[in-house]
Amino acid sequence: MAKYTPKERLYRALRKQQVDRMPAVCFTQTATVEQMEACGAYWPEAHADAEKMATLAEAAHTVVGFEAVRVPFDITAEAEFFGCGIKAGDLKQQPSVIKPSVKNLEDLDKLKNYNLKEGRIAVVLEAVKILSEKYGKELPIIGSMIGPFSLAQHINGDAWFGNLFTGEEIVPALLDFCSDFNVAYAKAMVENGADTIAIIDPTASYELIGGEFYEKYALPYQKKIADAMKELDVATVLHICGNTTNGLGIMDKTGVNGISVDQKVDIKTATGNVKDAIIVGNLDPVAVLWNGTPEEIEEASKKVLEAGVGLLTVGCGTVSMTPTVNLQKMIECTKNYTY
Ligand SMILES: [Zn+2]
Repeated sequence: MAKYTPKERLYRALRKQQVDRMPAVCFTQTATVEQMEACGAYWPEAHADAEKMATLAEAAHTVVGFEAVRVPFDITAEAEFFGCGIKAGDLKQQPSVIKPSVKNLEDLDKLKNYNLKEGRIAVVLEAVKILSEKYGKELPIIGSMIGPFSLAQHINGDAWFGNLFTGEEIVPALLDFCSDFNVAYAKAMVENGADTIAIIDPTASYELIGGEFYEKYALPYQKKIADAMKELDVATVLHICGNTTNGLGIMDKTGVNGISVDQKVDIKTATGNVKDAIIVGNLDPVAVLWNGTPEEIEEASKKVLEAGVGLLTVGCGTVSMTPTVNLQKMIECTKNYTY
């Protein structure tokens, strides 16, 4: 059987080509306090400093053993870039968005002349470059960004869901704006060396908005990113939170290579609901990976693997307090699995 580099293995697995074994990667955030202590790059500084961000991302490989590196660790850089108020995170907690920046079309117009070489977007892009120069030949370089629906929600704030349900004109305008930004940002990540793009769109969830709204307000915009990446032969993985089991068929129409599912999703049903994408996930980051024992992790991993998951990994993002040994147990189960 052919042996592949981790980069080749993930490339092939995401395209449903034959591989020697399952790749051990994580498409949601990877940083933990144990990694910060091991590498000397800590939250919150690592969210805003390219060198520190790259150092902490690297620890997911050198300290834990993931066969990929991924940045950033939160989903607020984009909202911050577009003028939203951000509550700074700390050692254990990620930053969060607390103040929107767009009420109406006039506000939106003011955001249109952005420059990707500024702010935290530039920091993330620089971190991608540092990682790609060091590891790009061997390891997958995963660039992650918030998806268009959740970014529009951040920018529009509490008014977003109301505007969505009453069909305000700000809704398609914001979604166009955000998805155009997503495409430009993803292309810049690829130019800097990213080979896989993770789209984290937590609130574009079937559980929250239902199939009809997903089809109208999430699908076309997420698809735009997947289409643009396909042209560059770059794989995309879409993560959406909540129980998306019955929405997976529509999510599959985005054309992404992988759909990363929440721990609420039943893997066996999930795999039957998609035709094109592979299903990625979905160990519970709290009950299993943070609070479980290695034995419990092995058992949970076995269940997910036997249910036919395309790639075993974390469901929603890794909790910063997760012990390294627990992540390593999941990685061991992944590496031991041949399709
Ligand atoms: Zn999630």
